[in-house]
Amino acid sequence: DFSDEQKHYLQGFVAGSGLTQLLVNGRASFATALGLPANGSISLPGGGSEIPPGPEAVHYRAQDAQVAAGKKLCPEEVAKRKKFPLDQWNDLVQHSAEGKFPKGTDVLAFKYQGLFYVAPAQDSYMARLRFAGGIVPSFQFRRVAELAEVHGGGFSDVTTRANLQIREIQAGSAIDFLEGLHDAGILCRGSGADNIRNVTGSPTAGIDPQELIDTRPLSRAMHHYILNHREMYGLPRKFNIAFDGGGKISAVEDTNDIGFSAVRVGQGKTDSDGQLIEPGVYFRLALGGITGHKDFAKDQGVLLKPDECISVAAAIVRVFIDNGDRTDRKKARLKYVLDRWGHAKYIEETEKVLGRKLRKVATAMCEPRPAVDKHGHIGVFPQKQEGRFYVGVVLPVGRITAEQMRGIADIADKFGSGMIRLTVWQNLLISDIAEADIPAVQEALAKLNLATSATSIRAGLVACTGAAGCKFAMAHTKQHAMALAEALEKRIELDVPVNIHLTGCPNSCAQHYMGDIGLIGTKVSLGDDDDAEEVEGYHVFVGGGYGADQSIGRELYRNIPATELAKTVEKMIRGYKANRTTPTESFNE
Ligand code: SF4
Repeated sequence: DFSDEQKHYLQGFVAGSGLTQLLVNGRASFATALGLPANGSISLPGGGSEIPPGPEAVHYRAQDAQVAAGKKLCPEEVAKRKKFPLDQWNDLVQHSAEGKFPKGTDVLAFKYQGLFYVAPAQDSYMARLRFAGGIVPSFQFRRVAELAEVHGGGFSDVTTRANLQIREIQAGSAIDFLEGLHDAGILCRGSGADNIRNVTGSPTAGIDPQELIDTRPLSRAMHHYILNHREMYGLPRKFNIAFDGGGKISAVEDTNDIGFSAVRVGQGKTDSDGQLIEPGVYFRLALGGITGHKDFAKDQGVLLKPDECISVAAAIVRVFIDNGDRTDRKKARLKYVLDRWGHAKYIEETEKVLGRKLRKVATAMCEPRPAVDKHGHIGVFPQKQEGRFYVGVVLPVGRITAEQMRGIADIADKFGSGMIRLTVWQNLLISDIAEADIPAVQEALAKLNLATSATSIRAGLVACTGAAGCKFAMAHTKQHAMALAEALEKRIELDVPVNIHLTGCPNSCAQHYMGDIGLIGTKVSLGDDDDAEEVEGYHVFVGGGYGADQSIGRELYRNIPATELAKTVEKMIRGYKANRTTPTESFNE
């Protein structure tokens, strides 16, 4: 008697294990319970023959072309060519055995295994994991808690890519830590450096009453495609992919290099050749999102069937591998190929790799996305499965202790289906809870010092790692975020959802440009003299948004010391409240 969520997970496991036929033949009742087809074949989306084969030694080919054109590869590319970082496992084993951290280009190489040496901010590794669509079964959550406790700082951070990071891992623990993850099926290869990061999807996929499509099979298929295709590693620069299914909580896919957005196409709609489109749910394709560079992903006028998405994503990545800039890392992201070529040429090159034309359809032929609930990741909400609910748990700026993780895994097992869903809003959902059990879940969470409700200010608070753990940071973002929430909650009430994003440097991991209020760290001089004291502070932006409210925030104040931040943000919120023309007018209006 499996829940939908358990069925889904087991189906994927069975399909992925290659045991389908055995199970269907040998254990008919088990197969029936899982909802497996009688003939024993399961097709995962994108698993068809259309996926183009990976070119041999593709990295070298692209680099050779740029060298032939008289360009000098950047040092990172030279190092990648000397020794492909995925082949440096043994170097990592040796470093770990000798209790040594990496130096030089080995720092980049070890990020291919998910380990970031974060000196000088901290003399330790940070590990970034991978979970397809941010969905984590309870046994993996417990394993991460255990490893964080034994080898790390005893806590994890939920990231803005619906992922987990563990900090304070010592050099000698590196291999035990990674092997512990791998033993539990958590493979974090490529979670850092020039690779495709954690594939994100709608956090309420499969349980959301308003979703157009369940994105879980797609994020899983993409996740496994990356893990099992060697040429998907060693790109010119990092790369992000997201699937949004049209549910209550946005996957903010428009901030990704490839954003797939589910849309419905009704009767009588046509493509750009005037051909009738079969009504149904499709994905629109957007490319080039990188909000730190003030760009959202742009719609390409392409409409894809769900089972075309993986092969199209693979082809897009291959075009990037061949044509991304390997001589200047500041210009190496996908956006710069798009700027250089124009979007139409990029799609043409993708079509060449695919060997077929893509379906071109104007946005006007598609129905608008169902509305997003900006703070729909916090609170108790009904699922599409009758009588079942998901609860969104508040995690202040994403931090969670090992003890809390174990407690959450226990709650998910006892009251839910054993699944934990991380969100890009740095919190998590526990799904499949019976209505009668909600008070017990809230009580169990309270014992862990966690809640399912928060003020409007705290519910939308997002902060990157900051100076406590990142060498690029100009400010202690997480600490400042917590102090800001505490101060504002005492001084002002807000009746609409507001998102406040604090980012420590222009890399913009917390995407300050898309926050209603966005803050980017800086150093502020307290005087005009050369020896004037410098303190941590922020430039302040207003009016960012995503999805239907897509907009890049504009700078309102510069050089506000962190100690003055609460006063400044309070002034902004009071200004908004006094001047809005409708009760829900957005900050960018
Ligand atoms: Fe570090 Fe900058 Fe990213 Fe913050 S935004 S985590 S400071 S790189």
